[in-house]
Amino acid sequence: MLDVCLLGTGGTVPLPNRWLTSCLLRCDGRSVLIDCGEGTQIALHRQSFSCRQIDTILLTHYHADHTAGLPGFLLTMAKSERTEPVTIIGPKGLEEILRGVMLIARYVPFEIRYMEIQSREQTFQIGNMRITAFAVKHSVPTYGYCIEVDRRPKFDPQKAQAAGIPLKLWSRLQKGETVTDENGNTYTPDMVLGKERKGIKMVYATDTRPVEYIAEHARGADLLIGEGMYGDPAKMENALKNRHMTMQECAAIAAKAGVRELWFTHYSPSMPDPEIYREEIQAVFANAVISHDGQTGTLKFQEE
Ligand SMILES: [Zn+2]
Ligand SMILES: [Zn+2]
Repeated sequence: MLDVCLLGTGGTVPLPNRWLTSCLLRCDGRSVLIDCGEGTQIALHRQSFSCRQIDTILLTHYHADHTAGLPGFLLTMAKSERTEPVTIIGPKGLEEILRGVMLIARYVPFEIRYMEIQSREQTFQIGNMRITAFAVKHSVPTYGYCIEVDRRPKFDPQKAQAAGIPLKLWSRLQKGETVTDENGNTYTPDMVLGKERKGIKMVYATDTRPVEYIAEHARGADLLIGEGMYGDPAKMENALKNRHMTMQECAAIAAKAGVRELWFTHYSPSMPDPEIYREEIQAVFANAVISHDGQTGTLKFQEE
């Protein structure tokens, strides 16, 4: 199960009723924040969630609307007497960014671990979430994130019996252990497990032109959170110049990738009511949601 909450849906500058783009993910006791613009801690608080609970922060890129909230966020974590380490992941240059952040957030009573993404694509494991960062195309180095939660295959007793595996080893194999018995025979989990089962997948990509890799990573995803910077197709020139997407371009990615649902985020402050584009967008991709701050959903394993 993966809980997803869009804390804010604004791009560039926060508005009185729209916080800057950031997203909270929760899975099996781990809490991950994607991006941390100015005011993210307030947006989080509004969802009755505390900064203290976040253990990992993924940064898409270092434009201020995605990072300027970091010093305050870390200081609030410090005030909550957090002592466990916090991991921050982002494009190259993260060390320098954090040096700047720590000039303001000077005293934090926990370790800040950081990981700079070293290549165009890199995978990290955070608890049960397999997180793949993939390069997208913005005016500065920027990454999208693909979050996958695997589902273990079902135990297949007939298969275990047919393979002649001693009953006493079944539960260990079922838990994923490789077991060697007293006679030196080695048994592997695949000998007792059934076929692969579809897990959960979501992709987060904002601040980018609609490059091919987004659809590739989002293929068959349960949810794509994509960029809604411009709703008016007449803004295409701005989208090209500033390396952003129109909502129509993003909806076309969702359709191509065959995702189950698309949520928009990162609306331009010049667009006070993205709802007015709903019909036009849903003509491109029917399951497009014109998200708002606090948009929440739970992605579950599908029934078979
Ligand atoms: Zn932005
Ligand atoms: Zn940007």
